[in-house]
Amino acid sequence: MNSLNHLPGPKATPATKLNIPRRWWHLVLDTLLPARCLLCGLPSGATRLCDGCHRDLPFSGTQCRRCGLPLGTPEDSSCGRCIQNPPLFTRTVSPLQYLYPADHLVQVFKFNRQLAAGRILGHLLCETVVNQDIALPDTLIPVPLHPLRMARRGFNQAFELGNYVGKVVGVPLLATGLRRSRNTTAQSGLSRKQRRKNVRGAFYWTGRVTPGRHVALIDDVMTTGTTLTECARVIKKAGASRVDVWVPVRAVPPGHI
Ligand SMILES: [Zn+2]
Ligand SMILES: [Zn+2]
Repeated sequence: MNSLNHLPGPKATPATKLNIPRRWWHLVLDTLLPARCLLCGLPSGATRLCDGCHRDLPFSGTQCRRCGLPLGTPEDSSCGRCIQNPPLFTRTVSPLQYLYPADHLVQVFKFNRQLAAGRILGHLLCETVVNQDIALPDTLIPVPLHPLRMARRGFNQAFELGNYVGKVVGVPLLATGLRRSRNTTAQSGLSRKQRRKNVRGAFYWTGRVTPGRHVALIDDVMTTGTTLTECARVIKKAGASRVDVWVPVRAVPPGHI
C-alpha cells in the first residue's frame, strides 16, 4: 500500500506557472477536493484516516500504566519492572505500537514534514485521552530539539503534536521552559546504557516560568524512555510533582511478551 502517491496534489506545477505560491495551491485543492485517507487514498473525514485504516492500526492493547509496554493481563496495571523500579513518570499514554503503518506515519511526519500525518497521530492520542478518561495535566511540554537540529529540520514534531493535542483537549502548551543544551547524537542504534549516557545533562529548565504541578511530556515516539526520563527529571527539579508521558507511538523491544 503506498498511499501518499494516491493523494491529490499538484505534481506538475500549474501553481508555479501562475506564480501562485505552492502552499496556497494546496490550500485551494484541500478546499475543493474531498479529504482522502493518507494511508489508502479512499475518501475520509477531516482527520485523513478512513474507518478501515483506523480499524487496522496496531493499537497498543492492555498496557503497563507507567511505561506503556504491553501486558499479558486483561486490564491495564503496572508491569513487574515498573513496580520494582518505578520510572520518574506516573502514566504513559500511547495508543499505538511502533509497527506499520504507525511507523510510516511517524517517519513521514518527522522527516518529510507531512503535517497531515502528525494530525492523525495527534488525533489518535486525543482519542485515547478522552476514551480512557485520562487525568488532564496543567501543562503539556514538548520534548525540545537542539537549536541546530531545529534549524536543519525546520520544525519540532513534538511541538506540532503538542500544539494540536493541547488545543483539542484544552491544556496549555508550555514550550519555553525546557531546553536542550547538547545536540545529542540520534538515539536509534544505541543500547539502553548508551542512550542514558547520551542524554544525561542534555536538558535544562530556564526562565521564570514554572512547569505546573502536573505535567504531560509530549513526543512522537517513546523507545526506551531514556530521553523522556531525563526530561522528567529536569521538570520535577523545576517544581512539578507529577510527570506523565503522552506519545502516539510506543516502540516495543524485541522479545517483549
Ligand atoms: Zn484508509
Ligand atoms: Zn511498566
